[in-house]
Amino acid sequence: MEARMIESDKMATVGLLASGVAHEINNPLAIVAAHSEDLLDRLKEEDQSLEQDEIKAGLNIVLEQVIRCKQIISRLLGLARKSHDNDYVDIGQSSAQVLELLKHRAKQKNIKIVSQIDAGLFVLGNESEWQQVVLNIVTNALDASNAGGTLEVAAGRDDNNNEEIHFSVHDYGQGIPEKYLKKLFVPFFTTKPVGQGTGLGLFISYSIVQKMQGKLFIDSTEGKGTIVDITLPSYKVGA
Ligand code: ADP
Repeated sequence: MEARMIESDKMATVGLLASGVAHEINNPLAIVAAHSEDLLDRLKEEDQSLEQDEIKAGLNIVLEQVIRCKQIISRLLGLARKSHDNDYVDIGQSSAQVLELLKHRAKQKNIKIVSQIDAGLFVLGNESEWQQVVLNIVTNALDASNAGGTLEVAAGRDDNNNEEIHFSVHDYGQGIPEKYLKKLFVPFFTTKPVGQGTGLGLFISYSIVQKMQGKLFIDSTEGKGTIVDITLPSYKVGA
């Protein structure tokens, strides 16, 4: 089964993002409101049972939730910020740097990363944004893989179309249940435990790839694994 973002989904994405953000921020705000209200009421009533420690604990919860909101907002602002340093990106070199960073994590999980990355693959884009895409997708593949597994990363030109570059990550892990395929690009959709997933990885990756005039496909079979394939238009340096 394949998941792909099609043209008509783009507008819906804006609405999904808005409702996702509203939901994500509403929860911490409700906690902030409840704790502030409780503390204020008890301070107003001069509740003698109110201890300094309780005030501190209440304010700490308020602070934690405010920090959570700030984190969500700063990730979204980062996404919305237009990068002015659009330049040509060496897909092979910049992806290899990310794989190097993830080597330790893979080793810890006893997962072998096999990479077949060609040289001279240039695209137009922003290098740190591209590296964010690679980081998100390879991290997902590592998270889904079982210990002792192998993960394949490939980058090269399309066999039939020299103007297209493919970047793919293939894992043989848990795969994605069919019912989730439609939700993969929905902001804040995650199946990971609280604190481990934000559900923004694929949404952000999709947005970056789209900005680079590329396409992102996900092909997955539950229990067998997942292939993420990104197609990008080739950029001729000096052209
Ligand atoms: P997060 O990683 O924070 O959960 P993502 O948007 O990157 O957010 O991914 C959303 C969900 O898609 C994940 O929680 C997981 O359920 C699923 N997913 C993404 N990549 C894979 C993969 N390679 N194998 C299995 N499931 C995946």
